[in-house]
Amino acid sequence: MSEAARTEEHELIIVGAGPAGLCAGLYAGRSEMDAVMLDKGMPGGQLLLTELVDDYPGVQEIGGIELAQEMAEHSARFGVEAVQHEVTSIQREEDGTFRVITDDGPVYRAPAVILTAGGEHRTLDIPGEEEYRGHGVSYCAICDGAFFKGETIAVVGGGDSAVEESVFLTRYAEKVYVIHRRDEFRAQQVLQDRLFANDDIEVIWDTVVREIHGDEEGVTHLDLENVETGDERKLPVSGVFIFIGFVPNSGILDFHVEHDAAGYVLTDEHMQSSVPGLFVAGDVRAQLVRQITTAVGDATTALFAAEGYLDALEDGDGAGMASRETPAVAAPRG
Ligand code: NAP
Repeated sequence: MSEAARTEEHELIIVGAGPAGLCAGLYAGRSEMDAVMLDKGMPGGQLLLTELVDDYPGVQEIGGIELAQEMAEHSARFGVEAVQHEVTSIQREEDGTFRVITDDGPVYRAPAVILTAGGEHRTLDIPGEEEYRGHGVSYCAICDGAFFKGETIAVVGGGDSAVEESVFLTRYAEKVYVIHRRDEFRAQQVLQDRLFANDDIEVIWDTVVREIHGDEEGVTHLDLENVETGDERKLPVSGVFIFIGFVPNSGILDFHVEHDAAGYVLTDEHMQSSVPGLFVAGDVRAQLVRQITTAVGDATTALFAAEGYLDALEDGDGAGMASRETPAVAAPRG
């Protein structure tokens, strides 16, 4: 098939169908925009890896997968359904039109893109990690910490996330072991000071986790190895939080866009990136916290900003293509 036959034109392309993408899809459908939403897998993003959500206002408790399905159905009800194609790159033509390249689907073209492609938690890749994911193995303290009230748990890592989240987890857990592969943290000193002042935390230095063990209830213990002495030991814990880095999926952008040192895309308050017409929401955006609530809030802003941007383009306001300003979003939406 020729490229022309395999090219689809839309007003808006939403890349990613996690909470941010699904929320953008919902509002795009409600606004009767010609939008397409792409995701390499099932809609839901990180929700699909979350056992239970108990911090989404108005929903006391819901399974992550169930919330993902509800969000996907909600967006589809307004006419925007996630299409399953992996986006391999996003390119930008000379006139500012975006080309979204997929692995086995068409090339999608549109004047505006909302990037909600999230990212991946770096994993230890050890036996038991995948098996007990969502059953004692977690990558999110705010999401899962409350499930470990009064229990003994472990945190792996030595960066800002590991050190900060260990302190946070002592709100729930009775005891938190922090397992780090070296003999010093790379975390900011202020975060380290808080950790060392906390009596509920014990640091296990120069140590790596070799295997995560469990039973039908979840995690039961870890196999540890001291990398200096070679000594091995078993550590009984009911949960292990792994904070060894997060890799935002901003690498699919095939043009320069402003980002921070870790690769998170920088935006203005309209969620517009340094590239006009490219809006960003969810875990791939540089921000203070990465929560479902912030993802859907930012996606709402991104959608209306994108709509305003497209309206301005249609009205012949070329400024939108040339400057970083998002045109025509001044009127507050109710
Ligand atoms: P990070 O800074 O990349 O730290 C990752 C930690 O995990 C390091 O201590 C590293 O050990 C360890 N690690 C990496 N791979 C490992 C492996 N395979 N096995 C065992 N340990 C491993 O990641 P992060 O803490 O998630 O932070 C990411 C970014 O967000 C950073 O820029 C950070 O400053 C920022 N952040 C800021 C705040 C804040 O300002 N409050 C909070 C959270 C995150 P080594 O030290 O030996 O390399």
